Amino acid sequence: MCKKLTGRNTLLAKLSYTTLPSARKEMIMNKEIPYKIYLEENEMPKQWYNVRADMKQKPAPLLNPKTLKPSTVDELSQVFCRELAIQEIDDTTPYFDIPEDILNFYKMYRPSPLTRAYCLEEKLQTPAHIYYKFEGNNTSGSHKLNSAIAQAFYAKKQGLKGVTTETGAGQWGTALSMACSYLDLDCQVYMVKCSYEMKPFRREVMRTFGANVTPSPSMLTNVGRQINAEFPGTNGSLGCAISEAVEAATSQDGYRYVLGSVLSQVMLHQSIIGLETKAALDKYGVKADIIIGCAGGGSNLGGLIAPFAGEMLRGEADYKLIAVEPASCPTLTRGVYTYDYCDTGKVCPLAKMYTLGSGFMPSASHSGGLRYHGMSSVVSELYHQGLMEARSVEQTEVFKAAETFARIEGILPAPESSHAIKVAIDEALKCKETGEAKNIVFGLTGTGYFDMYAYQAYNDGKMSDYIPTDEELAKAINAIPKFDV
Ligand SMILES: *Cc1c(COP(=O)(O)O)cnc(C)c1O
Repeated sequence: MCKKLTGRNTLLAKLSYTTLPSARKEMIMNKEIPYKIYLEENEMPKQWYNVRADMKQKPAPLLNPKTLKPSTVDELSQVFCRELAIQEIDDTTPYFDIPEDILNFYKMYRPSPLTRAYCLEEKLQTPAHIYYKFEGNNTSGSHKLNSAIAQAFYAKKQGLKGVTTETGAGQWGTALSMACSYLDLDCQVYMVKCSYEMKPFRREVMRTFGANVTPSPSMLTNVGRQINAEFPGTNGSLGCAISEAVEAATSQDGYRYVLGSVLSQVMLHQSIIGLETKAALDKYGVKADIIIGCAGGGSNLGGLIAPFAGEMLRGEADYKLIAVEPASCPTLTRGVYTYDYCDTGKVCPLAKMYTLGSGFMPSASHSGGLRYHGMSSVVSELYHQGLMEARSVEQTEVFKAAETFARIEGILPAPESSHAIKVAIDEALKCKETGEAKNIVFGLTGTGYFDMYAYQAYNDGKMSDYIPTDEELAKAINAIPKFDV
């Protein structure tokens, strides 16, 4: 058992016998780091931070696939809500006020705790100090709710009837269905077929919140019918589902499309994670050395690192930032940096990003949320500028890390989040060798309660690691058109 647990009990006892605020004040003054570093409600950030404003070399703009000219707000507004289209294009405004209604919704589950992983540190016998920002403390179980409520809010404000979207593992669809039911908006979700079948519980949570869930590729859209004809029996992919959801939005009156990752507007909303993390660390005078996040489309990572990357860009501080991706979908570590389609059906704007090619069909790995072929153009550009490192890790070692973490810290982590745990543990073990007491911060994006088939495969010793060969990757990468831009 973790010895520090006695410490925790004493601490809890102390807290319950004293009035909480003054006990906290005392701890802060003594710089004694509690297990949970809470911000008070009035210390919550009231603005989102747009890291693009501090980038000298901006991320490349989205392009209209027909004209190959930068997409305008008017063009994007045909697909997205207008206010979100404005946020998407704005790369100069550093701060955006968070509307009152969104702040109030955030208060139902935020600020999220930043936890000092004392027990994990002791288990690893590392001199490193490990902190994790836990975003799984809401019914949707992940950070995606931070952007879902923002996007639903702007849709409602615009007077729309509803929104359409895709979901891979189901977390985004779940978050969006919660946000839509809260604001009384219709929610149509195209769910990647393998997840629809493998994750019936997420599907049912969405339906319980009132969403309409369709397995993708479906026969409801032109693009779905095309993909089904071209790849009979396909398990689907995020890229296909995106195309279907976009078609559904543009072919119905009063609907727009919303997306849970990749876009710069999503990163903007997710900056709440990094801003809270930084505020909490600052409160205790802790300077992070290493910041780690898992990377699917890049939104939680981008949001977590945003204020830290901002300091680096302004020359105020230095951090080691690490993106972690699955070896089965190695976008940053083995992809190419180029303009590519965001979706299989080629209906979305083109984005310059690290990509494996929009035709890349990842293996049915369990890290559903990390299987996208591309990467946020902001994260891609930061990586390209050398501000960030990337690592790819294999599935079984990720679950081993998840198991270690669950057993000692008492949280069942999402497989996606466990990619960050794995590298946090690796870095903590390096500190053990060098004797350095580095401050390691990682994003724990969600819970794994709906991933029990994956845990079952791991527990039964039936999990395999799949690493695509160079030839397999080359196929989709070589199929990326050479856009004349
Ligand atoms: C969706 C998801 C991710 C990956 O998405 P990003 O946009 O890269 O953040 C990671 N963890 C969880 C729990 C998710 O639901």
